[in-house]
Amino acid sequence: MTENQSRYREPDYLPVMEQFYTLQGEGRYAGHAAYFIRLTGCDVGCVWCDVKESWTVRENQWKKVDEIVNEACGFPARMVVITGGEPAMYDLSELTRRLKEKGFRIHIETSGAYPLSGSLDWVTVSPKKFKAPLQEVVVQAHELKVVIFHPSDIDWAEKHAQMTNKDCLLLLQPEWDRRDRHGDLLIEYIKSHPQWSLSLQTHKYIDIP
Ligand code: SF4
Repeated sequence: MTENQSRYREPDYLPVMEQFYTLQGEGRYAGHAAYFIRLTGCDVGCVWCDVKESWTVRENQWKKVDEIVNEACGFPARMVVITGGEPAMYDLSELTRRLKEKGFRIHIETSGAYPLSGSLDWVTVSPKKFKAPLQEVVVQAHELKVVIFHPSDIDWAEKHAQMTNKDCLLLLQPEWDRRDRHGDLLIEYIKSHPQWSLSLQTHKYIDIP
């Protein structure tokens, strides 16, 4: 991790790749209006990552937490999704404290590779083979979302499901470019293992961010 990406940099500043208002496309809250804060910086290195531009941090991307929160307040929804990159690389205590002061419900999407910080209402863990998730994070997940790139990933998903708490939603999501190839496989698997549900990247189907 570079100095720029250290979670121990002042929590008053965070590196932001983009902020935008849209509908959540995936998981339990799909279809809900939400303000997305995409932090930049990730050292997980997934080969199929569709936001590779979020792997590095440029000096001009560090932004004051006050500014981030003020922009979020400009939209009517009071649900924020903190995503990345890998947002758990940073100390989110100040950002989440100030969002809470403004009445936001706070969601995070993480690979689980770093400990969580701050006040979070909904934790989505999407474990990645390229950097193993921490058990202490998986057990806090409200939803476990496993992207299926290869059929063998289903066994890997089951292994992580065993680490979750009993209320955790279990979601299998076909990797976007392989959705046609693996879609039927996942449907049949879920029919015989109904503890799992299908997650689709609905925002890509309707072409919104
Ligand atoms: S963890 Fe997320 S941002 Fe990081 S490489 Fe994987 S898919 Fe990309």
